[in-house]
Amino acid sequence: MTTEQVAATINPWAVAQQQFDLAAEHLKLDPGIRQVLREPRRALTVTFPVKMDDGTVRVFTGYRVQHNLGRGPAKGGIRYHQDVSIDEVKALAMWMTWKCAVVGIPYGGGKGGVIVDPKKLSLKELEALTRRYTTEISVLIGPERDIPAPDVNTTPQIMAWMMDTYSMHAGYTVPGVVTGKPISLGGSEGRNEATARGCVYTVVAAAKHLGVDLTKTTAAVQGFGNAGSIAARLMRDEGSTVVAVSDTQGGIHKPTGLDIEKVLAWKQEHGTVVGFPGSTKITNGELLELDVDILIPAAYENQITAANAKNVKAKIIAEAANGPTTPEADEILAKKGVFMIPDILANAGGVTVSYFEWVQDLNRDHWSETVVNAKLKEIMDRSFGEVLAMSLLEEVNMRTAAYLVAVKRVADTTALRGLYP
Ligand code: NAD
Repeated sequence: MTTEQVAATINPWAVAQQQFDLAAEHLKLDPGIRQVLREPRRALTVTFPVKMDDGTVRVFTGYRVQHNLGRGPAKGGIRYHQDVSIDEVKALAMWMTWKCAVVGIPYGGGKGGVIVDPKKLSLKELEALTRRYTTEISVLIGPERDIPAPDVNTTPQIMAWMMDTYSMHAGYTVPGVVTGKPISLGGSEGRNEATARGCVYTVVAAAKHLGVDLTKTTAAVQGFGNAGSIAARLMRDEGSTVVAVSDTQGGIHKPTGLDIEKVLAWKQEHGTVVGFPGSTKITNGELLELDVDILIPAAYENQITAANAKNVKAKIIAEAANGPTTPEADEILAKKGVFMIPDILANAGGVTVSYFEWVQDLNRDHWSETVVNAKLKEIMDRSFGEVLAMSLLEEVNMRTAAYLVAVKRVADTTALRGLYP
């Protein structure tokens, strides 16, 4: 089976609950709090019509899930993908709760998605779908309640349409209802790069901890979208030789290193990285097993599984994607001595700068990119240090350590707030 076929057989919600159970067990969490945190607080399914360019009406299904609201409003992206399911959105919402807690920003976790292949829609259809979906989930979202952001296949333009739709209903402009907006509409400097930048900050911190000189390393990046393409560029900027990248069509490999700007230009022209001159075509599965020092999965869930974990050769894995590694694979990698920087830490830069964007919007303020990146670095470095300290103290791997930090913060809030009524 290919990695894609294996991935399709694994339920991300089961994975998310399994990861939470491990931490809950370790923390000896109160059974009541454990039951509460194991399930989403709210899960909304919406079914809505969109008029297509040819005059026909198509009905789409979408979701918005709020996993936990204990530490603040729900926060989490919107995914447009043909494989979106309620279980995937529930998992992504739960991971958002832990992610916000691990970096200490005042949010709960949420996530949304629409079952659609946006590449098959015209721009007009995409806008109509976005506006109607936003209206359908407006019973949940709002700047004090639940703040969406970009995720797979959703862009600053889509965030602009969401903000405009919500504002039209409110009767005034509400920039703080979504993040990841274009800068001219209240978006933050540095937001577009934030997920990758935060991820590379954690790789730099891991390399320092392990005594690895990044300029002597090779790296492979799976996925060449917002997170992956920018992570590849920033890894190159840190001196690492990026030898492979990939997208849904497959991967490319060049042992002497890829010129990331040229790969970006090639992808823009041809719609895929495949065929880039001077590179060899590889599969996404082969990319994960390349003999590299650093592996950055930046595409989709369930890519590193019990089926291929034993063949992974990287010494450091930084999960720019959400949920790319299953718990069974985690165990295999830990036994091999792989240093894993888990998703809830490695890709938390995106939500951190989303938080900065929201703070700027609420205050009608605008920070420079230098200020944004410095604040991001401070939070990523501090969070990495806290997770590493927990890992050393409790003698657990970095994922379990990140969960211990995060789940404890959310559980403490839940206990302090008490049970209503
Ligand atoms: P994107 O839509 O910009 O890019 C996704 C990329 O992955 C594309 O290049 C696509 O071709 C590729 N891809 C999709 N499925 C693949 C597969 N099975 N194998 C190989 N490549 C595949 O999305 P993004 O925003 O970069 O998100 C990527 C990952 O990062 C997701 O897991 C997302 O949840 C996570 N993430 C994104 C953000 C953010 O701010 N955008 C924040 C945190 C986490």
